[in-house]
Amino acid sequence: MSKALIIGAGGVAGVVIHKCCQNSEVFTEICIASRTKSKCDKFKEELQSKTATKITTAQVDANNVNELVKLISEYKPDIVINVALPYQDLTIMDACLATKTDYLDTANYEPEDTAKFEYKWQWAYKKRFEDAGITAVLGCGFDPGVTGVFSAYAQKHYFDEINYIDILDCNGGDHGYPFATNFNPEINIREVSAKGSYIEDGKWVETEPMEIKRVYNFDKVGEKDMYLLHHEELESLAINIKGIKRIRFFMTFGQSYLTHLKCLENVGMTSIEPIMYEGKEIVPLQFLKAVLPDPASLGPRTVGKTNIGCIFRGKKDGEDRNYYVYNVCDHQECYKEVGSQAVSYTTGVPAMIGAMMVLTGKWKKPGVFNVEEFDPDPFMDALNKWGLPWTENFDPVLVD
Ligand code: NDP
Repeated sequence: MSKALIIGAGGVAGVVIHKCCQNSEVFTEICIASRTKSKCDKFKEELQSKTATKITTAQVDANNVNELVKLISEYKPDIVINVALPYQDLTIMDACLATKTDYLDTANYEPEDTAKFEYKWQWAYKKRFEDAGITAVLGCGFDPGVTGVFSAYAQKHYFDEINYIDILDCNGGDHGYPFATNFNPEINIREVSAKGSYIEDGKWVETEPMEIKRVYNFDKVGEKDMYLLHHEELESLAINIKGIKRIRFFMTFGQSYLTHLKCLENVGMTSIEPIMYEGKEIVPLQFLKAVLPDPASLGPRTVGKTNIGCIFRGKKDGEDRNYYVYNVCDHQECYKEVGSQAVSYTTGVPAMIGAMMVLTGKWKKPGVFNVEEFDPDPFMDALNKWGLPWTENFDPVLVD
Protein backbone atom coordinates (compact mmCIF):
# COMPACT_ATOMS: atom_id res chain seq x y z
CA MET A 1 0.00 0.00 0.00
CA SER A 2 2.10 2.91 -1.22
CA LYS A 3 1.52 6.30 -2.71
CA ALA A 4 3.99 7.93 -5.12
CA LEU A 5 4.01 11.53 -6.30
CA ILE A 6 5.48 11.70 -9.82
CA ILE A 7 6.69 15.18 -10.79
CA GLY A 8 6.97 15.86 -14.53
CA ALA A 9 4.83 14.64 -17.42
CA GLY A 10 7.36 14.33 -20.26
CA GLY A 11 8.94 11.37 -22.04
CA VAL A 12 10.54 9.71 -19.02
CA ALA A 13 7.55 10.43 -16.74
CA GLY A 14 5.28 8.68 -19.25
CA VAL A 15 7.25 5.45 -18.83
CA VAL A 16 7.39 5.77 -15.01
CA ILE A 17 3.61 6.27 -14.98
CA HIS A 18 2.94 3.24 -17.22
CA LYS A 19 5.30 1.06 -15.17
CA CYS A 20 3.82 2.10 -11.81
CA CYS A 21 0.38 1.28 -13.22
CA GLN A 22 1.63 -2.18 -14.27
CA ASN A 23 2.95 -2.63 -10.71
CA SER A 24 -0.24 -1.84 -8.77
CA GLU A 25 0.66 -4.15 -5.91
CA VAL A 26 3.42 -1.75 -4.89
CA PHE A 27 2.07 1.49 -6.35
CA THR A 28 -1.51 1.47 -5.09
CA GLU A 29 -1.87 5.20 -5.74
CA ILE A 30 0.03 7.71 -7.86
CA CYS A 31 -0.36 11.45 -8.29
CA ILE A 32 1.03 12.92 -11.52
CA ALA A 33 1.95 16.57 -11.02
CA SER A 34 3.58 18.87 -13.53
CA ARG A 35 3.71 22.41 -14.85
CA THR A 36 1.16 21.62 -17.58
CA LYS A 37 -1.71 19.76 -15.89
CA SER A 38 -3.37 18.76 -19.19
CA LYS A 39 -0.41 16.44 -19.90
CA CYS A 40 -0.98 14.73 -16.51
CA ASP A 41 -4.72 14.41 -17.20
CA LYS A 42 -3.97 12.78 -20.55
CA PHE A 43 -2.01 9.98 -18.85
CA LYS A 44 -4.84 9.51 -16.36
CA GLU A 45 -7.43 9.26 -19.14
CA GLU A 46 -5.34 6.73 -21.02
CA LEU A 47 -4.49 4.50 -18.08
CA GLN A 48 -7.09 4.69 -15.31
CA SER A 49 -9.46 2.13 -16.85
CA LYS A 50 -6.58 -0.34 -17.40
CA THR A 51 -4.97 -0.32 -13.95
CA ALA A 52 -5.80 -0.96 -10.29
CA THR A 53 -3.52 1.95 -9.34
CA LYS A 54 -5.59 4.98 -8.34
CA ILE A 55 -4.41 7.98 -10.39
CA THR A 56 -4.85 11.62 -9.45
CA THR A 57 -3.30 14.68 -11.09
CA ALA A 58 -2.18 18.15 -10.00
CA GLN A 59 -0.61 21.31 -11.33
CA VAL A 60 2.66 22.33 -9.70
CA ASP A 61 5.56 24.65 -10.41
CA ALA A 62 8.45 22.57 -9.14
CA ASN A 63 10.69 25.64 -8.95
CA ASN A 64 8.50 26.84 -6.09
CA VAL A 65 9.22 25.11 -2.76
CA ASN A 66 6.03 26.41 -1.10
CA GLU A 67 3.82 25.02 -3.86
CA LEU A 68 5.60 21.67 -3.61
CA VAL A 69 5.30 21.55 0.20
CA LYS A 70 1.58 22.29 -0.07
CA LEU A 71 1.05 19.52 -2.63
CA ILE A 72 3.12 16.96 -0.71
CA SER A 73 1.41 17.85 2.60
CA GLU A 74 -2.02 17.39 1.03
CA TYR A 75 -1.31 14.22 -0.97
CA LYS A 76 1.02 12.63 1.63
CA PRO A 77 3.03 10.39 -0.73
CA ASP A 78 5.49 7.79 0.57
CA ILE A 79 7.98 8.87 -2.10
CA VAL A 80 8.47 11.69 -4.60
CA ILE A 81 9.76 10.55 -8.01
CA ASN A 82 11.35 13.57 -9.68
CA VAL A 83 11.26 13.17 -13.46
CA ALA A 84 10.95 16.89 -14.24
CA LEU A 85 14.23 18.58 -15.20
CA PRO A 86 17.57 18.67 -13.34
CA TYR A 87 16.98 22.36 -12.55
CA GLN A 88 14.22 21.34 -10.12
CA ASP A 89 16.22 18.81 -8.07
CA LEU A 90 17.07 21.12 -5.17
CA THR A 91 13.64 22.68 -4.74
CA ILE A 92 12.06 19.22 -4.73
CA MET A 93 14.65 17.96 -2.21
CA ASP A 94 13.89 21.01 -0.02
CA ALA A 95 10.19 20.17 -0.13
CA CYS A 96 10.91 16.51 0.73
CA LEU A 97 12.94 17.64 3.74
CA ALA A 98 10.17 19.96 4.91
CA THR A 99 7.60 17.14 4.69
CA LYS A 100 9.91 14.21 5.63
CA THR A 101 9.25 12.36 2.39
CA ASP A 102 11.61 10.01 0.53
CA TYR A 103 13.03 11.28 -2.79
CA LEU A 104 14.33 9.82 -6.07
CA ASP A 105 15.57 11.40 -9.31
CA THR A 106 17.29 10.43 -12.58
CA ALA A 107 19.68 13.32 -13.25
CA ASN A 108 21.83 15.48 -11.02
CA TYR A 109 21.21 19.14 -10.35
CA GLU A 110 22.64 21.70 -12.70
CA PRO A 111 22.13 25.42 -12.43
CA GLU A 112 20.21 26.78 -15.43
CA ASP A 113 22.86 29.41 -16.25
CA THR A 114 25.99 27.16 -16.25
CA ALA A 115 26.05 23.85 -18.10
CA LYS A 116 28.01 22.11 -15.35
CA PHE A 117 26.59 19.07 -13.73
CA GLU A 118 28.09 17.59 -10.61
CA TYR A 119 26.81 16.06 -7.37
CA LYS A 120 28.17 18.60 -4.88
CA TRP A 121 24.89 20.47 -4.52
CA GLN A 122 22.86 17.34 -3.79
CA TRP A 123 25.50 15.60 -1.67
CA ALA A 124 25.40 18.71 0.54
CA TYR A 125 21.91 17.53 1.67
CA LYS A 126 23.27 14.29 3.19
CA LYS A 127 23.28 15.33 6.85
CA ARG A 128 19.85 16.96 6.64
CA PHE A 129 18.33 13.82 5.06
CA GLU A 130 19.99 11.68 7.73
CA ASP A 131 18.66 13.88 10.52
CA ALA A 132 15.17 13.82 8.99
CA GLY A 133 15.34 10.01 8.70
CA ILE A 134 14.50 10.05 4.98
CA THR A 135 16.12 8.52 1.90
CA ALA A 136 17.23 10.28 -1.28
CA VAL A 137 18.24 8.09 -4.24
CA LEU A 138 20.16 10.12 -6.83
CA GLY A 139 20.50 9.36 -10.53
CA CYS A 140 18.25 6.31 -10.85
CA GLY A 141 17.71 6.19 -14.63
CA PHE A 142 19.89 4.06 -16.90
CA ASP A 143 23.05 6.13 -17.07
CA PRO A 144 23.34 7.22 -14.35
CA GLY A 145 21.34 4.53 -12.60
CA VAL A 146 21.59 1.01 -13.97
CA THR A 147 25.27 1.66 -14.77
CA GLY A 148 25.82 2.20 -11.02
CA VAL A 149 23.82 -0.93 -10.16
CA PHE A 150 25.89 -2.91 -12.71
CA SER A 151 29.06 -1.58 -11.03
CA ALA A 152 27.87 -2.54 -7.54
CA TYR A 153 26.88 -5.99 -8.87
CA ALA A 154 30.28 -6.51 -10.51
CA GLN A 155 32.02 -5.44 -7.31
CA LYS A 156 29.85 -7.68 -5.12
CA HIS A 157 30.00 -10.87 -7.19
CA TYR A 158 32.99 -10.86 -9.53
CA PHE A 159 35.86 -8.65 -8.35
CA ASP A 160 38.08 -7.97 -5.36
CA GLU A 161 39.00 -4.70 -7.03
CA ILE A 162 37.79 -2.99 -10.20
CA ASN A 163 40.54 -0.97 -11.88
CA TYR A 164 38.93 0.15 -15.14
CA ILE A 165 35.33 0.89 -16.09
CA ASP A 166 34.17 1.84 -19.57
CA ILE A 167 30.50 2.75 -19.80
CA LEU A 168 29.22 2.32 -23.38
CA ASP A 169 25.92 3.93 -24.33
CA CYS A 170 24.86 2.97 -27.85
CA ASN A 171 21.68 4.14 -29.51
CA GLY A 172 21.29 2.31 -32.80
CA GLY A 173 17.83 3.81 -33.30
CA ASP A 174 16.74 5.77 -36.37
CA HIS A 175 13.85 8.26 -36.16
CA GLY A 176 14.08 9.36 -39.78
CA TYR A 177 14.63 13.07 -39.02
CA PRO A 178 17.90 14.70 -40.13
CA PHE A 179 18.29 16.06 -36.56
CA ALA A 180 16.36 15.46 -33.35
CA THR A 181 17.28 14.59 -29.78
CA ASN A 182 16.00 11.52 -27.98
CA PHE A 183 15.31 13.31 -24.74
CA ASN A 184 14.88 16.90 -23.67
CA PRO A 185 16.86 18.80 -26.39
CA GLU A 186 18.11 21.47 -24.03
CA ILE A 187 19.55 18.95 -21.55
CA ASN A 188 20.85 16.70 -24.34
CA ILE A 189 22.65 19.45 -26.27
CA ARG A 190 24.13 20.95 -23.11
CA GLU A 191 25.55 17.51 -22.34
CA VAL A 192 27.07 16.74 -25.74
CA SER A 193 28.44 20.20 -26.54
CA ALA A 194 30.30 20.37 -23.21
CA LYS A 195 33.97 19.40 -22.92
CA GLY A 196 34.61 15.69 -22.46
CA SER A 197 36.29 14.32 -19.36
CA TYR A 198 37.26 11.11 -17.63
CA ILE A 199 38.88 10.13 -14.37
CA GLU A 200 42.41 8.74 -14.28
CA ASP A 201 44.41 8.11 -11.09
CA GLY A 202 41.96 10.10 -9.01
CA LYS A 203 42.05 13.18 -11.25
CA TRP A 204 39.71 14.55 -13.92
CA VAL A 205 41.28 14.70 -17.39
CA GLU A 206 39.51 17.17 -19.69
CA THR A 207 39.17 16.78 -23.48
CA GLU A 208 37.70 18.96 -26.21
CA PRO A 209 34.09 18.07 -27.09
CA MET A 210 34.06 14.80 -29.14
CA GLU A 211 37.89 14.72 -29.20
CA ILE A 212 38.21 11.00 -28.34
CA LYS A 213 36.53 8.63 -30.77
CA ARG A 214 36.42 4.83 -30.79
CA VAL A 215 34.56 2.27 -32.89
CA TYR A 216 32.79 -0.62 -31.14
CA ASN A 217 30.78 -3.56 -32.39
CA PHE A 218 27.67 -3.70 -30.20
CA ASP A 219 25.69 -6.90 -29.71
CA LYS A 220 22.36 -6.76 -31.64
CA VAL A 221 23.23 -3.30 -33.07
CA GLY A 222 26.52 -3.60 -34.97
CA GLU A 223 29.51 -1.34 -35.41
CA LYS A 224 29.13 2.28 -34.27
CA ASP A 225 31.31 5.36 -33.73
CA MET A 226 31.35 6.40 -30.10
CA TYR A 227 32.77 9.48 -28.41
CA LEU A 228 34.06 10.15 -24.93
CA LEU A 229 31.77 12.46 -22.92
CA HIS A 230 31.71 13.79 -19.41
CA HIS A 231 28.98 11.98 -17.52
CA GLU A 232 27.73 12.39 -14.02
CA GLU A 233 28.13 8.83 -12.70
CA LEU A 234 31.91 8.99 -13.21
CA GLU A 235 32.09 11.27 -10.17
CA SER A 236 30.25 8.95 -7.78
CA LEU A 237 31.60 5.64 -9.11
CA ALA A 238 35.20 6.84 -8.72
CA ILE A 239 34.45 7.25 -5.01
CA ASN A 240 32.19 4.27 -4.37
CA ILE A 241 33.93 1.48 -6.34
CA LYS A 242 37.14 0.07 -4.87
CA GLY A 243 40.43 0.22 -6.80
CA ILE A 244 39.42 2.52 -9.69
CA LYS A 245 42.34 3.67 -11.84
CA ARG A 246 40.35 4.95 -14.80
CA ILE A 247 36.71 5.41 -15.64
CA ARG A 248 35.34 6.63 -18.98
CA PHE A 249 31.96 7.14 -20.62
CA PHE A 250 31.31 6.75 -24.36
CA MET A 251 28.15 7.52 -26.32
CA THR A 252 27.45 6.70 -29.97
CA PHE A 253 26.54 9.45 -32.43
CA GLY A 254 25.86 9.25 -36.13
CA GLN A 255 27.66 11.54 -38.58
CA SER A 256 24.45 13.40 -39.49
CA TYR A 257 23.76 14.28 -35.84
CA LEU A 258 27.31 15.57 -35.36
CA THR A 259 27.33 17.61 -38.57
CA HIS A 260 24.04 19.29 -37.64
CA LEU A 261 25.22 19.92 -34.10
CA LYS A 262 28.47 21.49 -35.33
CA CYS A 263 26.56 23.75 -37.68
CA LEU A 264 24.11 24.79 -34.95
CA GLU A 265 27.06 25.47 -32.62
CA ASN A 266 28.91 27.47 -35.27
CA VAL A 267 25.95 29.81 -35.77
CA GLY A 268 25.41 30.23 -32.03
CA MET A 269 22.14 28.29 -31.71
CA THR A 270 23.36 26.04 -28.88
CA SER A 271 24.42 28.94 -26.63
CA ILE A 272 22.82 29.31 -23.20
CA GLU A 273 23.77 33.02 -23.03
CA PRO A 274 20.60 35.14 -23.33
CA ILE A 275 20.39 37.48 -26.35
CA MET A 276 17.97 40.29 -27.23
CA TYR A 277 15.58 39.51 -30.09
CA GLU A 278 12.94 42.06 -31.13
CA GLY A 279 13.01 43.64 -27.68
CA LYS A 280 12.71 40.33 -25.86
CA GLU A 281 15.44 38.36 -24.12
CA ILE A 282 15.72 34.80 -25.45
CA VAL A 283 18.15 31.93 -24.85
CA PRO A 284 19.21 30.49 -28.25
CA LEU A 285 19.24 26.89 -26.99
CA GLN A 286 15.71 27.26 -25.58
CA PHE A 287 14.54 28.69 -28.91
CA LEU A 288 16.17 25.77 -30.71
CA LYS A 289 14.30 23.37 -28.40
CA ALA A 290 11.05 25.01 -29.47
CA VAL A 291 11.68 24.30 -33.17
CA LEU A 292 13.06 20.75 -32.83
CA PRO A 293 10.78 17.69 -32.81
CA ASP A 294 9.36 16.93 -29.36
CA PRO A 295 11.23 13.80 -28.13
CA ALA A 296 7.87 12.36 -27.05
CA SER A 297 6.80 12.39 -30.74
CA LEU A 298 9.73 10.18 -31.83
CA GLY A 299 8.24 6.99 -30.39
CA PRO A 300 6.15 5.86 -33.36
CA ARG A 301 8.93 6.58 -35.90
CA THR A 302 12.02 5.23 -34.14
CA VAL A 303 13.26 1.80 -35.18
CA GLY A 304 16.32 -0.14 -34.01
CA LYS A 305 17.82 -0.92 -30.63
CA THR A 306 19.82 0.58 -27.79
CA ASN A 307 22.65 -1.27 -26.10
CA ILE A 308 23.95 0.23 -22.84
CA GLY A 309 26.37 -1.40 -20.44
CA CYS A 310 29.68 -1.41 -18.61
CA ILE A 311 32.97 -3.17 -19.25
CA PHE A 312 34.91 -3.84 -16.06
CA ARG A 313 38.57 -4.84 -15.74
CA GLY A 314 40.06 -5.77 -12.41
CA LYS A 315 41.25 -8.58 -10.18
CA LYS A 316 39.68 -11.58 -8.48
CA ASP A 317 41.79 -13.85 -6.24
CA GLY A 318 44.94 -12.29 -7.73
CA GLU A 319 43.93 -13.04 -11.35
CA ASP A 320 43.02 -10.47 -14.03
CA ARG A 321 39.35 -10.54 -14.91
CA ASN A 322 37.15 -8.81 -17.53
CA TYR A 323 33.37 -8.57 -17.36
CA TYR A 324 30.80 -6.82 -19.59
CA VAL A 325 27.16 -6.50 -18.60
CA TYR A 326 24.63 -4.73 -20.81
CA ASN A 327 20.99 -4.38 -21.77
CA VAL A 328 19.60 -4.35 -25.30
CA CYS A 329 16.29 -2.57 -25.74
CA ASP A 330 14.15 -2.33 -28.89
CA HIS A 331 12.58 1.06 -29.71
CA GLN A 332 9.46 -0.37 -31.37
CA GLU A 333 8.80 -2.90 -28.60
CA CYS A 334 8.95 -0.08 -26.05
CA TYR A 335 6.57 1.95 -28.14
CA LYS A 336 4.08 -0.92 -28.35
CA GLU A 337 4.22 -1.44 -24.60
CA VAL A 338 4.19 2.11 -23.20
CA GLY A 339 4.00 4.54 -26.15
CA SER A 340 7.63 5.77 -25.86
CA GLN A 341 10.95 5.04 -27.52
CA ALA A 342 13.77 3.16 -25.79
CA VAL A 343 15.67 6.19 -24.45
CA SER A 344 12.71 7.20 -22.27
CA TYR A 345 11.97 3.54 -21.52
CA THR A 346 15.49 2.71 -20.32
CA THR A 347 15.32 5.73 -17.98
CA GLY A 348 11.75 5.35 -16.71
CA VAL A 349 11.85 1.64 -15.87
CA PRO A 350 14.84 2.00 -13.46
CA ALA A 351 13.18 5.03 -11.84
CA MET A 352 10.09 2.92 -11.09
CA ILE A 353 12.28 0.05 -9.82
CA GLY A 354 14.32 2.40 -7.59
CA ALA A 355 11.12 3.79 -6.08
CA MET A 356 9.91 0.22 -5.52
CA MET A 357 13.23 -0.59 -3.76
CA VAL A 358 12.66 2.30 -1.34
CA LEU A 359 8.94 1.59 -0.82
CA THR A 360 9.56 -2.11 -0.10
CA GLY A 361 12.34 -1.27 2.39
CA LYS A 362 15.17 -2.82 0.34
CA TRP A 363 16.85 0.50 -0.31
CA LYS A 364 15.57 2.43 2.69
CA LYS A 365 18.17 4.16 4.85
CA PRO A 366 18.48 7.78 6.01
CA GLY A 367 20.72 9.98 3.88
CA VAL A 368 21.51 10.90 0.27
CA PHE A 369 22.84 8.05 -1.87
CA ASN A 370 23.94 7.14 -5.36
CA VAL A 371 22.52 3.84 -6.55
CA GLU A 372 25.80 1.89 -6.28
CA GLU A 373 25.68 2.39 -2.49
CA PHE A 374 22.73 -0.02 -2.18
CA ASP A 375 22.47 -3.82 -2.55
CA PRO A 376 22.32 -4.38 -6.34
CA ASP A 377 20.79 -7.88 -6.25
CA PRO A 378 17.05 -7.09 -5.84
CA PHE A 379 17.38 -4.33 -8.43
CA MET A 380 19.10 -6.67 -10.92
CA ASP A 381 16.27 -9.21 -10.47
CA ALA A 382 13.71 -6.47 -11.01
CA LEU A 383 15.40 -5.34 -14.25
CA ASN A 384 14.83 -8.81 -15.70
CA LYS A 385 11.22 -8.82 -14.54
CA TRP A 386 10.20 -5.28 -15.56
CA GLY A 387 11.50 -5.06 -19.13
CA LEU A 388 15.27 -4.44 -19.08
CA PRO A 389 16.90 -7.91 -19.06
CA TRP A 390 20.70 -7.96 -19.00
CA THR A 391 23.36 -10.08 -20.64
CA GLU A 392 26.80 -10.98 -19.29
CA ASN A 393 30.01 -11.52 -21.29
CA PHE A 394 33.17 -12.71 -19.51
CA ASP A 395 35.40 -12.29 -22.56
CA PRO A 396 34.44 -8.94 -24.08
CA VAL A 397 36.30 -6.95 -26.72
CA LEU A 398 37.94 -4.14 -24.75
CA VAL A 399 38.07 -0.45 -25.66
CA ASP A 400 41.65 0.81 -26.11
P1 NDP B 1 10.85 16.25 -20.88
O1 NDP B 1 11.28 17.61 -21.29
O2 NDP B 1 10.17 15.35 -21.86
O3 NDP B 1 9.89 16.36 -19.60
C1 NDP B 1 10.16 17.21 -18.53
C2 NDP B 1 8.86 17.42 -17.79
O4 NDP B 1 9.14 18.23 -16.63
C3 NDP B 1 7.80 18.15 -18.62
O5 NDP B 1 6.56 17.52 -18.41
C4 NDP B 1 7.84 19.55 -18.02
O6 NDP B 1 6.63 20.24 -18.05
C5 NDP B 1 8.17 19.26 -16.58
N1 NDP B 1 8.69 20.46 -15.95
C6 NDP B 1 9.69 21.27 -16.37
N2 NDP B 1 9.84 22.30 -15.54
C7 NDP B 1 8.91 22.14 -14.57
C8 NDP B 1 8.56 22.89 -13.43
N3 NDP B 1 9.19 24.02 -13.10
N4 NDP B 1 7.56 22.43 -12.64
C9 NDP B 1 6.90 21.29 -12.96
N5 NDP B 1 7.19 20.55 -14.02
C10 NDP B 1 8.19 20.96 -14.82
O7 NDP B 1 12.16 15.53 -20.29
P2 NDP B 1 12.46 13.95 -20.20
O8 NDP B 1 11.24 13.25 -19.74
O9 NDP B 1 13.14 13.53 -21.45
O10 NDP B 1 13.56 13.91 -19.04
C11 NDP B 1 13.17 13.93 -17.67
C12 NDP B 1 14.42 13.80 -16.80
O11 NDP B 1 15.09 12.57 -17.04
C13 NDP B 1 15.46 14.90 -17.05
O12 NDP B 1 15.95 15.30 -15.78
C14 NDP B 1 16.55 14.19 -17.81
O13 NDP B 1 17.81 14.78 -17.61
C15 NDP B 1 16.48 12.81 -17.18
N6 NDP B 1 17.08 11.74 -18.01
C16 NDP B 1 17.88 10.84 -17.38
C17 NDP B 1 18.46 9.80 -18.09
C18 NDP B 1 19.24 8.73 -17.39
O14 NDP B 1 19.52 7.70 -17.99
N7 NDP B 1 19.61 8.89 -16.12
C19 NDP B 1 18.27 9.68 -19.56
C20 NDP B 1 17.32 10.62 -20.10
C21 NDP B 1 16.78 11.63 -19.35
P3 NDP B 1 5.97 20.85 -19.41
O15 NDP B 1 5.26 19.67 -19.96
O16 NDP B 1 5.08 21.93 -18.95
O17 NDP B 1 7.13 21.32 -20.25
